[in-house]
Amino acid sequence: MYYKSTRDSSLKKTSAEAIVAGISIDGGLFVPEEIPSLSLDEIKAMSDMTYPERAAFVFSKFLTDFTDAEIRYCTESAYNDKAFDHASITEISHLFDGTYVLELWHGPTCAFKDMALQILPYLLTTSLKKTGIDKKVVILVATSGDTGKAALEGFADVEGTSIMVFYPEDGVSAMQKKQMTTQDGKNVCVCAVKGNFDDCQNGVKAIFTDDDVKAQLAAKGKVFSSANSINWGRLAPQIIYYISAYADLAANGDIALGEKVNITVPTGNFGNILAAYYAKRMGLPVNKLICASNANNVLTDFLTTGVYDRNRHFYTTVSPSMDILISSNLERLLYIMTGSDELIRDWFGKLSSEGRYEVTDDVKAQLREEFAAGCCDDDATKATISEIYGKYSYTLDTHTAVAVRVYEDYRKATGDTTKTIIASTASPYKFGTAVLEAICGSAPADEFDKVDKLHEVSGYDVPASLEALRTKEIRFTGSVDRDAMKAFVLTEADKI
Ligand SMILES: *Cc1c(COP(=O)(O)O)cnc(C)c1O
Repeated sequence: MYYKSTRDSSLKKTSAEAIVAGISIDGGLFVPEEIPSLSLDEIKAMSDMTYPERAAFVFSKFLTDFTDAEIRYCTESAYNDKAFDHASITEISHLFDGTYVLELWHGPTCAFKDMALQILPYLLTTSLKKTGIDKKVVILVATSGDTGKAALEGFADVEGTSIMVFYPEDGVSAMQKKQMTTQDGKNVCVCAVKGNFDDCQNGVKAIFTDDDVKAQLAAKGKVFSSANSINWGRLAPQIIYYISAYADLAANGDIALGEKVNITVPTGNFGNILAAYYAKRMGLPVNKLICASNANNVLTDFLTTGVYDRNRHFYTTVSPSMDILISSNLERLLYIMTGSDELIRDWFGKLSSEGRYEVTDDVKAQLREEFAAGCCDDDATKATISEIYGKYSYTLDTHTAVAVRVYEDYRKATGDTTKTIIASTASPYKFGTAVLEAICGSAPADEFDKVDKLHEVSGYDVPASLEALRTKEIRFTGSVDRDAMKAFVLTEADKI
């Protein structure tokens, strides 16, 4: 199977080439030429498999240029009980009748990004070998918090790679900062930038496309790559857990094999919900995909009107990983729906020049058929955390709370009682301030007092990785001006 660029259908790559490249040279994203199918018998058979076996089975349909042994090496290296606190990798909690919370945060950094970033380094190094590129990869990451730590954990001490993470000096939570600046590993480097997330992101993008830096790196046998969700190697692993959760629910008799479920996803860059759409298109019995947003509700408007308009106020919310106005992976969805690179070039050209585009009536009809969408603000998010805690003694993080609220609103508005999987994307320990404010009315100032308080309130074990931070030494204290990022990369790349 080959992968095409959303902006040039004639451009074809193997999956290994697409994973190494990250983004296509025309600015487009790689999508599989066709969507492989999945039968109910195959879903049934998965219930007897371990998570790495399930993952290998699904990957074998997408990464057809990988051998079975290569795929198994990747899935077994990534999904094991050294990295994850459950051998089952994910967990399903029953919330209220017919509502299942799929906990995707049992990995080393307590957010769902581990599900993809634990395996990406193995997919990437295997892809490098397969494509005969005998270079060391330097992963550059700009982060507003979760991605940086998950990428560091994934790439730390992985042979043939090094990783540099830039975060906004005052733009991440104290816990996120501590997670990153204490990172172990010989091949890692973390640096604060005097600026906001956009400064980090723009700085990294400028370095990626700087021919001078690339030439200097190439002379030393190194090449840049990316670990964010534009890379197919990050999206593909996310398809697996929806299929795996369905297989478990069917095996336990919570649903009948073949029964349709809804899937609700707290959404930012549209990667996680797009993975659910792929699972549906493969044949997973899915009714509606429910897209949940916070006050940054550009996707709610888009999915209900067909007009994407990023010209609006940017809100800083208690669910910061969803504070985003440009959802990159929407480009993949629209390409699948239209099959037209010409329309994609037109729309995404307009998005960068005017900040706005409107899709065709045909696409609007498909969006209405496949998706429902809703949003809620911080007050509603906190009220939901408090409500669910009070009724079910279950402690939600802020992102998952947005999804629960939007799902409850959807259910009330439509009367649709189809059983529903809600993607839970972070441990409440990661966003302790807002969670404690919601449940107790206030939160202690110190990060580890928050951890203790949350343990008392929720009864959940403190994740070992967060517990270890208490006494962990800070390794990275540096910060640079935006203009100094390039020079920093050139000197540091030699050291790691
Ligand atoms: C990244 C993130 C999201 C958003 O996921 P997308 O794939 O970008 O839509 C939601 N919740 C948490 C906790 C995240 O870290």
